[in-house]
Amino acid sequence: MKVLVTGGAGYIGSHTVYLLIEQGHDVVVVDNLVTGHKQDVHPDAKFYYGNIGDYPLMVDILRKEKVDGLIHFAAYSLVGESMSQPFKYYENNVSATNVMLAAMAECGVKQLVFSSTAATYGDVNVPLITEEMPTHPTNPYGQTKLAMEQMIAWHGQAYGMRHVAFRYFNVAGAHSSGRIYEKHDPETHLIPLVLEVAAGVRKQIYIFGDDYATPDGTCIRDYIHVMDLAVAHVKAMNYLIDGGKSMTFNLGNGEGFSVRQVIEAAQKVTGREILTHVSDRRQGDPAKLIASSLLATETLNWIPQYPSIEAIIESAWKAAY
Ligand code: UDP
Repeated sequence: MKVLVTGGAGYIGSHTVYLLIEQGHDVVVVDNLVTGHKQDVHPDAKFYYGNIGDYPLMVDILRKEKVDGLIHFAAYSLVGESMSQPFKYYENNVSATNVMLAAMAECGVKQLVFSSTAATYGDVNVPLITEEMPTHPTNPYGQTKLAMEQMIAWHGQAYGMRHVAFRYFNVAGAHSSGRIYEKHDPETHLIPLVLEVAAGVRKQIYIFGDDYATPDGTCIRDYIHVMDLAVAHVKAMNYLIDGGKSMTFNLGNGEGFSVRQVIEAAQKVTGREILTHVSDRRQGDPAKLIASSLLATETLNWIPQYPSIEAIIESAWKAAY
């Protein structure tokens, strides 16, 4: 198949591009390199520099490349930043995706795999989150991703496009080659930051609040390996090409780890001491998010290959240091 990957120079996008190419597919990438890295784009992918909100560019690419479908990663994705700069999130995530969808309609592209997030759920206090739970995002990042899901669904209804939306839980880890891995500037995610402390790049890790209603007081998240996510995207595109109907799936491991447990696991994996300092809660953070991914397993035959937190952290550690 031939796929256009938006945000293919970003963390999850670049790993998905590697997998697509390893499996023999043709890949076209469009990325504005605001948060992505050109050197992370697989050399065999065709690269277009630009913005998905640029209608003439998107129509031009889609007319030329005649892809079977799009995998749409391009978006801003930081909870904290979205709280202080909501405008940036509405513009880049919602408005730009709207333009991209219009270009898809113009060019008759009928299949879309969309990178959504568990942040669409908000603060749901249940042991396992299933896809039919109510969605009440607690930050503009989650709110814009939910709006994108809804836009995509309405667009699909109007233009006969089918889609899969993936609500990711907390992604970490790297490609086994070590050639690509998570690198954000500035880095805000827990696992890469903890590893920076282990590597001596950073003095300590700030724990954002230890007064949550969880066993050790720190936030609980469900961590999933980036290559497990990549596999799900390729399976979803095949599912759509085979005529599958539009669906929304959670992607997680079904097990939660607190911030303190992640730090302990990282100490074990790296053999280094990791200094911590408890600071204020980060605005917009729900206490606990754990996925039920049963629907993805049943529908797409998707089974995570990195179920252990140590294996996920080890993969990130080996690639980055
Ligand atoms: N976190 C933390 N210190 C940090 C970065 C993150 O305590 O320096 C916490 C954060 O509050 C959340 C969890 O770690 O509970 C995962 O945060 P991350 O930013 O990695 O992912 P998110 O849950 O925002 O998608």
